[in-house]
Amino acid sequence: MPFDLSSRLAERRAAHLYRQRPLLTSPQDVHISVDGQPLLAFCSNDYLGLANHPEIAEAMVEGVRRWGVGGGASHLVIGHSEAHHQLEEALAALTGRPRVLLMSSGYTANLGAITALVGQGDTVLQDRLNHASLLDAGLLSGARFSRYLHNDVASLEKRLAKATGNTLVVTDGVFSMDGDLADLPALCAAARQRDAWVMVDDAHGFGCLGATGAGIVEQYGLGLDDVQVLVGTLGKAFGTAGAFIAGSEELIETLIQFARPYIYTTSQPPAVAWATLKSLQLLRDESWRREHLARLIARFRAGASALGLQLMDSATPIQPLLVGDSARAMQLSAGLRERGILVTAIRPPTVPQGTARLRVTLSAAHSEADIDRLLEALQQTLSYLPEIEA
Ligand SMILES: *Cc1c(COP(=O)(O)O)cnc(C)c1O
Repeated sequence: MPFDLSSRLAERRAAHLYRQRPLLTSPQDVHISVDGQPLLAFCSNDYLGLANHPEIAEAMVEGVRRWGVGGGASHLVIGHSEAHHQLEEALAALTGRPRVLLMSSGYTANLGAITALVGQGDTVLQDRLNHASLLDAGLLSGARFSRYLHNDVASLEKRLAKATGNTLVVTDGVFSMDGDLADLPALCAAARQRDAWVMVDDAHGFGCLGATGAGIVEQYGLGLDDVQVLVGTLGKAFGTAGAFIAGSEELIETLIQFARPYIYTTSQPPAVAWATLKSLQLLRDESWRREHLARLIARFRAGASALGLQLMDSATPIQPLLVGDSARAMQLSAGLRERGILVTAIRPPTVPQGTARLRVTLSAAHSEADIDRLLEALQQTLSYLPEIEA
């Protein structure tokens, strides 16, 4: 019998891997309601607390008044508005790159960049923990595709030695499910020796890392000669929606000509770009958000290790607690929820087998008291599910 969907669904359920969407019945924030139940949330990617910022909301409303609602067409036809263009110029200034291309999402930014740059006869080398959109793009490109061990330069070098054609090394900047940073200085040096290009997807670094929030390349001081293709997303720390690719004039022209996920899609609503200009200004000028976040991260890590929890090697707002077993991760998440705390359990295939975890994320919108509430709830939950303790 073809299309036996019910057995597929039943298998997924039996493996404790069934996904359900919590229904958010309030605006995005750290104090939310889900199905009407008030919860303190530690699971969004709204790291700077900008998703519901009144000035950004106001900018979006002003953008609607000024530019209307829909993008109306693709960028190449007649969908490229001055709002989009100004945002591209502002993002080029933030990243210190000659030019930026605004995309409708991070997923399509990655698909567009990789498929436009490499194809049959070329090579794409990726960290094995890269985001799904990068892995999908590598497969779709038709290039020889190989994954190196996580953040392992020796493993990358072995693959670089065998690479053919144009070679693109691709890595997350901040690994989305672990919170650790790519060892970019070493990865870039290895790539340069073999004339390979480096592409960094800094979805979780923009806004959080670097003195002005320009992400991992700012933190490490890496320019265009080190990282030729830089991707950022706007739906996380920026609090709005969309993504961008930053690089040379020629790179951006190449993407405009050849990146199919750019060419064949409607531009994002210009009011979203207008709102993002405001969040960019807040992200750059209000460094207190990054400073406050750093204090919260330190407080959480100190408290969690005092509870004997296994922390990952992360200095970012992504602070996962490794559980291992998927069913147990679900139990712990449910235990926290009974105490008014929402932390999502992340299970395979989003993370490797046997590494289910509670992906705790912190936001500048949290207070120190919020962190203490989380720690207390963890302690209480662990007291009746002690086997979770690492
Ligand atoms: C979220 C994410 C994306 C996708 O970005 P969207 O704008 O949500 O499509 C891409 N890469 C990484 C590393 C991400 O975490």
